[in-house]
Amino acid sequence: MDLINKGVELIRRSTLTKKHQKHTRNLSGESDASSSPTSICKTPSITSSITSDEGSCYSGGYNSNVITPSQTPGRNSASSATQIPLSFTITPAVNTPPQSPVNKDIPSPYKEHSIHHMPASNYPSSAIPDYLSSSPVYASPLSPLPRLVEQQPSDGYFSIPPSTDSNVSTPSSKLVPQRSPMKGVYSPRPVHVSRVSTNAIPRTKLKDKQRRRQHRKLKLDDFVLKRTVGTGSFGRVHLAQSKVNGKHYAIKALDKYDVVRLKQVEHINNEPSILRDVSHPFLVTLWDAFQDDTHLFMVMDYVPGGELFSILRKQKKFSEQAAKFYAAEVILALSYLHENGIVYRDLKPENILIDARGHVKLTDFGFAKRVENVTWTVCGTPDYLAPEIILSKGYTKAVDWWGLGVLIFEMVVGRAPFLDKNPVNLYQKILECRVDWPEDISPELKDLLQNLLTADLDARYASDQVKSHEWFSDYNFDQVLKRKVKPPYIPKVKDDGDATCFAKYKEPAHLYGNIRGDPFRSKFPAF
Ligand code: AMP
Repeated sequence: MDLINKGVELIRRSTLTKKHQKHTRNLSGESDASSSPTSICKTPSITSSITSDEGSCYSGGYNSNVITPSQTPGRNSASSATQIPLSFTITPAVNTPPQSPVNKDIPSPYKEHSIHHMPASNYPSSAIPDYLSSSPVYASPLSPLPRLVEQQPSDGYFSIPPSTDSNVSTPSSKLVPQRSPMKGVYSPRPVHVSRVSTNAIPRTKLKDKQRRRQHRKLKLDDFVLKRTVGTGSFGRVHLAQSKVNGKHYAIKALDKYDVVRLKQVEHINNEPSILRDVSHPFLVTLWDAFQDDTHLFMVMDYVPGGELFSILRKQKKFSEQAAKFYAAEVILALSYLHENGIVYRDLKPENILIDARGHVKLTDFGFAKRVENVTWTVCGTPDYLAPEIILSKGYTKAVDWWGLGVLIFEMVVGRAPFLDKNPVNLYQKILECRVDWPEDISPELKDLLQNLLTADLDARYASDQVKSHEWFSDYNFDQVLKRKVKPPYIPKVKDDGDATCFAKYKEPAHLYGNIRGDPFRSKFPAF
């Protein structure tokens, strides 16, 4: 009976979802593209609070305003444009872009591998797109680019003349204005940025934390907003270009009014607050978060390869080897979060982005939470909800290992393990762990999945058991962490602002910062 009530409650919430999506579209003056034959059907996230501190309604509707799926078919369409090889091998070191840890207390084994320190000639040229071997991919929006002369891309981006100065910062007086896709000419570094100590401290000596924090607070005017690359319940993610260094970033913009109305203030504050404290090769980097009168903004590294969701839908399903690659990188990301007291809670292919070299970046920390032991909020994505979340029993980080089981199954089989149009039946199947096992799944993988997709929390595998499972016997997780395992798919990305891997979205008629009074500013201390 309890279960039925829960199902009814969840159906009620999905009705709220639809209403909210419609409302959001109306607010932005956009048409209902969900009726468009080209719209992408993704799994929305839900959240409902058992406690009073977190919100009590749907969050995370996706892509209701997609107008062109780019190369991405919807859940039911067939295409196999992207080829994922059946097997792949461990390769020599692929360079590792730097992350900027913002919390020195959290150890980051990744810090040492800075792209800034490695001569371009050391990169295995086949593995790295041209533009990556000539410029730092991960740089603060307010840091100047290093010398780019010899290897600069020939696509019209600005150029900086040769310099014998070993300091990576090129004085603005030496810049040669040239054609820029942004403004027509390159804008040299503004005076207010020169006051920041970038030039005083050699870049190679900067700790990543300092590098991320040394600039003044960012503002929207530091960027030129380009096209939308993703949408959520409260806003959208823009591809944006820094006016200072010309590099591209992703800016997530959220409507404060919607966040407050849907009681998501705590979740939304959690996202920048957690992202500021983490640094890992498989997590997206946040540079800053700020707000204007109407919106909240988060500036992140732009991850140009698109969503794993798109690749999976085009390919239909992955070989076990390809799935193992993505699973291994996700496992390290989850283990890192858990070691640092954070539960992620929204694992799914939509939240796994692929960088220019084919490696994973976990994004969307809207449901991530610092958790000592147990938490109660019902949130996540229906297909991925663990039994203990459905039962509102109070749950732990083990929900992320259940999510890993669902993710691996979906990658290998091409559909989630628990599916039903009727939410009550869906949750019943999850509670009973009733999986339709396909015949062509290897016995090793089936064993691993059975140990992840179990309602018995004492029996459910966690990080170490997963990593040492037989299915991963050909994997060395130290190599995975160093990004030395060759990705099964390298996206075709021609420069750091290439958005062709993302669906196209109808752009909003209005922009940000229109004043309607700001009663909510103090609710968002994390921005
Ligand atoms: P989110 O609301 O964080 O789930 O973002 C919605 C969508 O925007 C994601 O599914 C991605 O398609 C896109 N997106 C989010 N963050 C980034 C990023 N850092 N780089 C590129 N695209 C992103």
